[in-house]
Amino acid sequence: MAYIEIKQVYKSYGENHVLKDINIQILKGQLVTLLGPSGCGKSTLLRCLAGLEEIQEGAIYLDGSEISQIPAGKRKIGMVFQQYSLFPNLTVEQNIGFGLQMQKMNRDLISEKTKKVISLVELEGKEKEYPISLSGGQQQRVALARSIIMEPKVLLLDEPLSAIDAKLRKSLQQKIMEIQKELNLTVVFVTHDQDEAMLLSDVIWLFNQGRIEQSGSPIQIYTRPHTHFAASFIGNYNILEAQEFHAMVGETTSDGKKIGIRPETIQIQRDPVLPAEGEYLLQGKIKGNSPRGNVLRYQIEVKGIRLHADVLFRSFTLFENGANVYVSIPKRDCLELS
Ligand code: ADP
Repeated sequence: MAYIEIKQVYKSYGENHVLKDINIQILKGQLVTLLGPSGCGKSTLLRCLAGLEEIQEGAIYLDGSEISQIPAGKRKIGMVFQQYSLFPNLTVEQNIGFGLQMQKMNRDLISEKTKKVISLVELEGKEKEYPISLSGGQQQRVALARSIIMEPKVLLLDEPLSAIDAKLRKSLQQKIMEIQKELNLTVVFVTHDQDEAMLLSDVIWLFNQGRIEQSGSPIQIYTRPHTHFAASFIGNYNILEAQEFHAMVGETTSDGKKIGIRPETIQIQRDPVLPAEGEYLLQGKIKGNSPRGNVLRYQIEVKGIRLHADVLFRSFTLFENGANVYVSIPKRDCLELS
């Protein structure tokens, strides 16, 4: 049974319908991401979960009880934002222990718990420092520790790493995953970054203009997007109109649907080979290439249609511009998109 259930939730700001018919189920101990472009309603849903915003229709359940009407302070849900919002006049350990102090917990117990979470977020040695002397990444660790120490039923993370530089972000992503596994935390993570969502998630809920476009494991979403939006947001799909696909392979798609082809499923060869069963073998011409880290992306023209294909950058046999090549594409990787 779902630990968190969001049922038919709608939310508007005036005429702006920000959330439309949201249905989400999250299991205990899962790390899920709400992924989507800026402005599609992810943070609003997170704030509704936290109780910082009211929903107009629908219901939210946590651990078997409806929480839609329960005030934020009583939901036992922790939240970490992009802005760290630490108390500047309190030290690291005071910031972390603050919530428990408000609950009038015994000092020794607070000190013991603070020590534990400081070790968990690897801030040993920084206990007596003030936020101003910490890096952005360290401040975010304090913010994380401050939430975790309250032993929330759910931890909500709203773009917590967006303000942190790329290299440090990677190590913090790793840290969040480790902590989540170690404490068996249920985490809802908001991001607009597909790579971050792919790395962190047990399940991705992909948002588009206030609706859920698709949900599934990172691999399902990456390899089997159902819609044009999903294929253009995740991966770097070639998206062909039905008539372009027909011009290329001579086949029609059902109801004139578009076709998505993931660039790494396309193989390029210099010499003709017999087409394997279940593959299209097409003649093409190399029109250019661009290195993308460990992958080389080729632009290829096939029957007047431009495709891009990604090849692992390990080969000496680069295809020069203008080279005539053969392109093979597995039929099962030509996905019809709604
Ligand atoms: P995301 O997190 O996906 O970037 P948001 O949930 O922040 O998107 O915003 C979704 C939409 O709701 C946007 O159009 C935004 O302008 C609007 N919105 C968010 N918060 C408020 C608010 N407090 N008052 C009015 N409109 C808001």
